[in-house]
Amino acid sequence: MNIKTLIDEKKIENRIKEVAKQIENDYSNEEIVIICILKGAAFFATDLAKRINLPVTVDFMKVSSYEGTESTKKIDFKLDISTDISNKNVIIVEDIVDTGRTLTYLKDYLNSKNPKSLKICTMLDKKERREFDLNPEYVCFEIPDKFVIGYGLDYDEKYRNLPYIGYIE
Ligand code: 5GP
Repeated sequence: MNIKTLIDEKKIENRIKEVAKQIENDYSNEEIVIICILKGAAFFATDLAKRINLPVTVDFMKVSSYEGTESTKKIDFKLDISTDISNKNVIIVEDIVDTGRTLTYLKDYLNSKNPKSLKICTMLDKKERREFDLNPEYVCFEIPDKFVIGYGLDYDEKYRNLPYIGYIE
């Protein structure tokens, strides 16, 4: 398979530092809870968390979307957080926003737990594919409508460990 590089390792590293600084400035000394959406965001969330010089706690959620009847996609919760997020500053960390379906569901769900604030940080944003009214507060890279792999993103569970973001030609 021919994999082309879309965003190399150095660019990812530099951009994560910038976004981490932006988060630090926005929350000035307040505590934040990072909720990493498994599996794809695992690589990004850990690298980002290490760069944020604030009191940070980390938790994980896992969801999967499946095709329901009448071709409507449904979201299935596979793993829930164990942190009490009421009155906490929460940042959902995701690998990629495509239609926005997954994060729209997650946002509603987490908002029902009464956080003090709830924002979204995504590594990649395929803005032109959006079907839901969802605007992440922090975006590392806007990308064109290509199927990307690497740095957490998989193709059939493989390629998550690529240190760069690539696409299949
Ligand atoms: P959404 O709910 O926003 O339509 O889709 C988000 C999810 O779709 C992501 O968390 C990811 O699992 C998957 N996804 C969307 N685009 C891509 C892509 O280009 N590559 C990979 N590997 N997964 C993608």
